[in-house]
Amino acid sequence: MDSTEHRQASVADEDTLSAMQAWRRAIHRNPELGFEEHDTAQLVAEQLRLLGYEVTPGIAVTGVVGTLRWGDHAHAPRLGIRADMDALPVDECTGLPWASQRPGRMHACGHDGHTAMLLGAARTIATSVRKGAAGSAGTLHLIFQPAEELGGGGGARRMMSEGLFERFPCDALFALHNYPGMPVGHVYLRQGPFLASSDKVLIRFHGKGGHSAMPHLANDPSLPAAATVLALQSIVARNIDPVSDMAVITVGRLQAGRFYNVIAETAELELSVRSLSPPVRDTVHERIAAIAQGQASAFGLRVEIEAERGYPVLVNSAAEAALAARVASALLGADHVHADAAPVPGSEDFAFMLQQVPGCYLMIGNGDNGHANGVPAGPCNVHNPHFDFNDACLPIGASLWVRLVETFFAERHKTVSGTDW
Ligand SMILES: [Zn+2]
Ligand SMILES: [Zn+2]
Repeated sequence: MDSTEHRQASVADEDTLSAMQAWRRAIHRNPELGFEEHDTAQLVAEQLRLLGYEVTPGIAVTGVVGTLRWGDHAHAPRLGIRADMDALPVDECTGLPWASQRPGRMHACGHDGHTAMLLGAARTIATSVRKGAAGSAGTLHLIFQPAEELGGGGGARRMMSEGLFERFPCDALFALHNYPGMPVGHVYLRQGPFLASSDKVLIRFHGKGGHSAMPHLANDPSLPAAATVLALQSIVARNIDPVSDMAVITVGRLQAGRFYNVIAETAELELSVRSLSPPVRDTVHERIAAIAQGQASAFGLRVEIEAERGYPVLVNSAAEAALAARVASALLGADHVHADAAPVPGSEDFAFMLQQVPGCYLMIGNGDNGHANGVPAGPCNVHNPHFDFNDACLPIGASLWVRLVETFFAERHKTVSGTDW
């Protein structure tokens, strides 16, 4: 699909297209880290107000919700769409005219584009609603989230802990991310687990330090640590279904002692653990604990285990995944929609939101980044200092949101016509 065809698939007018590009580049020039997105949040809030949305700023510090209600909305369906706003602590190397003006800060994950696309959609949706294209009644919440990149739950969890879905109830929820390396105009999603969980586990063996020449007077914790490193790999090899499941256990840090003739007092392992299903995630954690405790008891010392569960598996619900696939196919052509795409081993804090509200996360091709808006930057992935969000995606993402809103409310209205929703 070339850019002319993208334009044909777009439901955004020329003014909205140029506004999205201007917002995207303004946000890119001024990248802000998680919970510091003050300027970005202000830009978002101002535009939403101009479009007639009710604006609630300051949720999870910098989060903004824009709400549009129409018709007899008290009994009408409620839809949420989320975009992330934060940048990364990266020094930008693109040399583009809209490159970051803040050293050590960069929109290297394309959240500048996600925010601009949802703002562009907000504009077209306001018109759709006025024309009656989005059913006779409804409530739409556009959720602009801070701090997706921060570990420990990120901005999604914090917005939820500040009552996001109690204050702005949603019957269904959607979000998207750009997908580098995949062609522009293509959409990727799947029902069920789509993105991995991401956890950290610390294992600390407490032995008894001593002289290297008198090991019988000490209890060397490096032995159970070494045995544990090897035994941990048996979990993926022996406890996980080799055909239908996956898990990753990486010992990223292994530490014991500081000097060659000293037996250490403690030995530590720090693990990164990933999985694509909640039961597999539980199995992996149970087996890690059992192996570490077994090794500690075999060597006669004490072990401490701290499992820190990070982002959960992101699970798309069936009805919402089907709706997203239908909307994308109608807009871009069925051959451009990969509704049974392979799961992605990355993680997303939108997974927390999907534990509370049914919904779908989808990915849209960002091209090979060789285009880089006319500047040859070479192919690269997100979080790379040469990455740039592809502006050719702006009309695609915005149009997907507009059509999704129209279809969601029109279909729900048909299903429930004459009844209390
Ligand atoms: Zn990222
Ligand atoms: Zn991202």
